[in-house]
Amino acid sequence: MERILIIEDEEKIARFVELELIYEGYEVEKAYNGRDGLELFKAQPFDLILLDIMLPGINGIEVLRRIRQFSDVPVILLTARDAVVDKVTGLDGGADDYITKPFAIEELLARIRVALRKKPANNISIDSKKLTVRNLELDPMKREVYVKGNIVNLTKREFDLLEYLMKNKNIVLSRDTILQNIWGYDFSGGTNAVDVYIRYLRSKIEEPFQEKFIYTVRGVGYVIKDEE
Ligand code: CA
Repeated sequence: MERILIIEDEEKIARFVELELIYEGYEVEKAYNGRDGLELFKAQPFDLILLDIMLPGINGIEVLRRIRQFSDVPVILLTARDAVVDKVTGLDGGADDYITKPFAIEELLARIRVALRKKPANNISIDSKKLTVRNLELDPMKREVYVKGNIVNLTKREFDLLEYLMKNKNIVLSRDTILQNIWGYDFSGGTNAVDVYIRYLRSKIEEPFQEKFIYTVRGVGYVIKDEE
């Protein structure tokens, strides 16, 4: 699944775009300022970034400059109407495309598809890489999980949840974020489902092996940690 990072301080726009992208089958993370966006991008793999230019603190052009120092990820700039200078500076700065606000979501989706197709072919799909957290190993290709070398049988939902936590290891994920990514944002069962499935996972990967991987962050959600 392709992952898109939205860096946009207008929360309503960010949320709206996020829902549309999730509906289209993308995995989405949001940041509301440049600094958080950069940190997220350094911590997690993304296939594309939607980057607002007018951001508080570090502006979008500067965020782009810093991203280009170490990555050629496709970047689509979100610009205010008639901000011609921004567009030129942005494209000179290595943006792949830009779209002017307010935009039709269909147009944004089309530009995203184009930008993703241009992606260099040598990007190894993150989805095929084995994930490891200490004695816990997950093979996405074989859909197998091992703890201390022992195979553990998980249901599809348990596997998807564990894979998501491991892909985002050391990052605290809220119940809502987990729910959206594993159950879909139109799931009406409530965040309780997350707690239930975390319990299932713990009973299979932790309790029999007496090792703790999944940590509860009170009032927030869960994190899988590399270090105990
Ligand atoms: Ca803005």
